[in-house]
Amino acid sequence: MIREYAIVGGGIGGCSIAALLNAQGHDVILIEKEPSLGGCASTFTHNTRRYNTGATTISGYHEGGIVRRVFDTVGTAPQLISTDPAITIIQGDKTCIRYRELEHFITEIEAFYPHSKHREFWTLVHSIGVAFYYMEGHYYSNASTLSKIRSLTSLFPMIRKFWRYLFGNAHDFIARFYGTVTPQYLDFLDAQIMIVAQATSKDVNFFTAALSLGYTFNETHYPVGGMGAACVSLTSKIPDIRTRCTVISISNEMGIYTLLTSQGTIKCKNLIMGTSHYESSQWFSDSAIKKYYQKYEKINNHQSAFILYMTIKSDTLYSHHYQLIAEQILPYTISKSVFVSFSDPADTLIAPAGEYRITASIHTDTRYWIGVEPILYKHHKTQLQNLLQQWICDKLTLSDDQIVESFAATPKTFGHYINRTQLGGNALTLSNFLPRLPANDTPIKGLYQVGDTSYAAQGWPGVMMGALNCMRMIHGKY
Ligand SMILES: Cc1cc2nc3c(=O)[nH]c(=O)nc-3n(C[C@H](O)[C@H](O)[C@H](O)COP(=O)(O)OP(=O)(O)OC[C@H]3O[C@@H](n4cnc5c(N)ncnc54)[C@H](O)[C@@H]3O)c2cc1C
Repeated sequence: MIREYAIVGGGIGGCSIAALLNAQGHDVILIEKEPSLGGCASTFTHNTRRYNTGATTISGYHEGGIVRRVFDTVGTAPQLISTDPAITIIQGDKTCIRYRELEHFITEIEAFYPHSKHREFWTLVHSIGVAFYYMEGHYYSNASTLSKIRSLTSLFPMIRKFWRYLFGNAHDFIARFYGTVTPQYLDFLDAQIMIVAQATSKDVNFFTAALSLGYTFNETHYPVGGMGAACVSLTSKIPDIRTRCTVISISNEMGIYTLLTSQGTIKCKNLIMGTSHYESSQWFSDSAIKKYYQKYEKINNHQSAFILYMTIKSDTLYSHHYQLIAEQILPYTISKSVFVSFSDPADTLIAPAGEYRITASIHTDTRYWIGVEPILYKHHKTQLQNLLQQWICDKLTLSDDQIVESFAATPKTFGHYINRTQLGGNALTLSNFLPRLPANDTPIKGLYQVGDTSYAAQGWPGVMMGALNCMRMIHGKY
């Protein structure tokens, strides 16, 4: 039997495109190497305890948001808890809460770092986000030079609207805007920009920085039962999902793709890769396809994550998310900040009453971990794990005897489980601007791509925007 669509990889991208195609009545098979779906947005079991692998927040599920649109189209709804505030930021001995409501947040930031320009600045950040999310009609294609040029013209309305924020870096824009800013306030902004843009204000324009700083003004959500449960909900209507099924190699003859997998051979007319661009060339024998993927390996920024997982016992009511900001970059990382997510105390699917599961992540570089002597690797891992654990305990007033278990993952761990070491996808930086980045179609007939290393980058909203763009490339609609 020749399948109409085979989708390799059950991350957010693979799950979204498979669910969207299935909803339109197409024949799809979704193939995932791991026992459960989600990839970076999965939930796993360790010593009988459930943890979110990486992603912990869903943004874009508000009324009219892109994530809501995909779930609605598919006809499923994840079980979510609305989170407000989105983040509690602790820098030195100060705490700043990112309230959703603009006025509430302006009062907070004025007390946190007094400055007369805050109202103007944060109102601008807010308004850029509102205007962007109402813009429709833009898309991005990479199938041919002509289709790429044509698709770039669809961005003209956006360029016309936001041109004054597109040129030059956000750091200079912010410095000009405020007149005077302290290095601590710039660190505060950079730590938040990094969460979404995967780059700091020196590497992105103010438009990207504003969208990153403003995401907390939209509704954000906590997924009940873990992030993996949202992926299960998204794909719940797909009849053919193969988990524990690893794609070993892919050949392409006479327009038919043949996938050799750990569960046998699968043939399909259309192949959608939900794996990272930087790893995909290894599975193809066709030299044109190999070359296509290898072309993009040079934009691999080697950015990744180091993650600390903890179970703690506590009766304290913790917020869902904290960001701790230090004065210096932490060893074996590229960041001064750690993002700490707590399970919801009422979410007994994840943890029993009185226990929290914590996923705490910090940006690192794959080259600190890959190809390093095993003894050194282990030493660095333990050192960073202890350091993060101590920092989190100090700032969130936890004691060692409240920690039930603690363990860590490095880019190498991600390579082992989900076949990728670079995490966070393509950063939309000033040097990595759109025409240089891959899209969801390719010049190869029947080959498509989703996920955070293709348009429109990372996270639930970015990856789902890519899945919708992929649908448009396939059918010319959406
Ligand atoms: C630490 C961290 C925290 C994050 N926090 C958030 C957050 O709070 N909110 C948010 O929206 N985003 C967050 N993100 C980003 C978000 O998780 C990712 O952008 C997104 O999950 C990537 O989805 P993807 O479709 O690219 O697939 P991936 O997650 O890369 O999944 C790819 C899948 O392909 C499978 N696969 C690989 N090779 C094969 C093979 N040969 N055969 C079969 N299957 C294969 C893998 O097992 C995997 O499941 C975070 C990311 C990280 C790393």
